[in-house]
Amino acid sequence: MNEAVREGGCACGHVRYRVAGEPMMVHNCHCRLCQQQTGSTSVVNAFFESERIELLTGELTRHVVQGGSGKSHTIFRCTQCGTAIWSQYSRLGSLSSGLRAGTLDDPGSVTPDVVIFTASKMPWVTLPEGIPAFPAYYDFAEVLPPDRLARLQALVARRQAGEG
Ligand SMILES: [Zn+2]
Ligand SMILES: [Zn+2]
Repeated sequence: MNEAVREGGCACGHVRYRVAGEPMMVHNCHCRLCQQQTGSTSVVNAFFESERIELLTGELTRHVVQGGSGKSHTIFRCTQCGTAIWSQYSRLGSLSSGLRAGTLDDPGSVTPDVVIFTASKMPWVTLPEGIPAFPAYYDFAEVLPPDRLARLQALVARRQAGEG
């Protein structure tokens, strides 16, 4: 079985990356912080084990901001054009990175598993049919298929053991 390999990058071409396999989970988040940080309706983050992501070219700057959970999260941006490439959240630290789906060369190749923080969605936004939506956060075990949940739980265990 061939694993999917996707590539992506920033708007100016300085940063290019490659990511192997399917995401553990894909979030479409409509929280106010994601709205502010992106200037848009919401963000689409595809979460992978960080080991699956290879930075091919370019450099990233780190910006520590607040996340929807109230804890800090770090946005990694292109040093040249400022495009946000991925984020790391306190729950999994550096073990997992949430790739901004819009930076993939084929952004349609990932689909959100969940739409979250719909309580603060812009009123004119229509939620997609067939994708579970939650007013705030959600329970991973209720949504993710067993194989992807197992990957996530493996990272949680490593984090609890002091990694990342
Ligand atoms: Zn750039
Ligand atoms: Zn959010």
